[in-house]
Amino acid sequence: MSVRSILIANRGEIALRIIRACRTLGLRTIAVCSEADRGAAYLALADRAVCIGGAAADTSYLDIGAVMLAAAAVGADAIHPGYGFLSENGDFAEAVEGAGLIFIGPTSDVVRLMGDKIAAKAKMRELGVPCVAGSHGALPDDPQLCQACATEVGYPLIIKAAGGGGGRGMRIVRDSASLHQAIGATREEARRAFANPTIYLEKFLEHPRHVEIQVICDGGGEGVWLGARDCSMQRRHQKLIEEAPPPGVPEANIAELGERCVAACRAIGYRGVGTFEFLYQDGIFAFIEMNTRIQVEHPITEETSGIDIVREQIRVALGEPLGLRQSEVTCRGHAIECRINAEHPFDGIPSPGRVESWLAPGGPGIRVDTHIVAGSEVPSHYDSLIAKVIARGEDRSECIERMLSALADLRAEGIRLNTELHSVVLKDASFRDARLSIHSLEDILRRRA
Ligand code: ADP
Repeated sequence: MSVRSILIANRGEIALRIIRACRTLGLRTIAVCSEADRGAAYLALADRAVCIGGAAADTSYLDIGAVMLAAAAVGADAIHPGYGFLSENGDFAEAVEGAGLIFIGPTSDVVRLMGDKIAAKAKMRELGVPCVAGSHGALPDDPQLCQACATEVGYPLIIKAAGGGGGRGMRIVRDSASLHQAIGATREEARRAFANPTIYLEKFLEHPRHVEIQVICDGGGEGVWLGARDCSMQRRHQKLIEEAPPPGVPEANIAELGERCVAACRAIGYRGVGTFEFLYQDGIFAFIEMNTRIQVEHPITEETSGIDIVREQIRVALGEPLGLRQSEVTCRGHAIECRINAEHPFDGIPSPGRVESWLAPGGPGIRVDTHIVAGSEVPSHYDSLIAKVIARGEDRSECIERMLSALADLRAEGIRLNTELHSVVLKDASFRDARLSIHSLEDILRRRA
């Protein structure tokens, strides 16, 4: 099949990123949009734009029927799901396959396997990827059995939803007295938020870093890992600042882990880009989950590896061999990404509205991925991420300096941005010294308050 056109089932900065990658491959792009995004400037950069539904995501970007109808109407050959929305929805991947189109991601059965965090962990453990200690499988209904399982793993624990994501559906438990209540509450939350009450438990690590490995595989046996990223700087389990490579983690350990990840991908016939997420504490890596889609933070790996990851993702999905050997992958320098959200910098309250003016930074080593221009509307219906500032430098300190300068240049009127939060974190001694843990950012904010 000769593929000519790609429908982009997403919005905002990632939709534009995909449009740009498609252009390098000579592919036509069809962007879909909701009523709320109708007038967005980036839509004009696609070859065609189609409105598929209302402002509420479940009537547009999350509506499988609406997306499939649009794909059929415009005669798209393939669908790129971006991140979030339907990107890790096995039913969607299956609908795309069933319609005879190409899903730009792994096959639907692999999407499903990795979307079930319990099944994903079991599979990875079986394939030799080191995992966080925890319940081997779902927690039973019987409170006594749960207590026994918790005692065996040892407190503190974290209870998680098997179908969870986006940092939701997790609860920390410090002693057996609060276990029962926490299980009930997490189960209920999981039922409501993910329509799946299945939960499991893990050892809660007190001061880990979040380190992840980027892989890309062609499903035909070729695969490489493209280095690692540190995504420890989080608020409410949501990443805010990411960097590559993870400072202070021995290269040899990353290489060993990367090899294991690629071997696991080969074993399951993985096709596409993927991210293996680990907690890293006391020199030990422990797998928590795999993301089967392009990630928000992919640009830092592009900056250090020199590889256009979205382009490669599309190429392998269209059936082309990866054509890249591990020995040809070299990562150099350092890269940092700051996620620019339309929100009040310190309390995180969303700040939607019309962007009256917009001035993006630039200069050596600065890349800005955004769909925003002066006059853009930031709707209240979706994620508040509107831009990513990515800085590259020979080393980490040059990178931090460039980022601080870029953040100072970034201006917007009409909406609030979280730029100042980033500057505070980047200037903090703990960040400068790379004393990182998943609590660092909240600790910095607490010290400042
Ligand atoms: P999600 O899919 O919602 O992002 P993850 O399982 O990837 O959920 O976890 C998100 C974040 O929660 C991690 O980056 C980490 O900060 C924290 N976390 C998850 N599991 C543990 C654990 N076992 N111990 C400590 N922190 C954890």
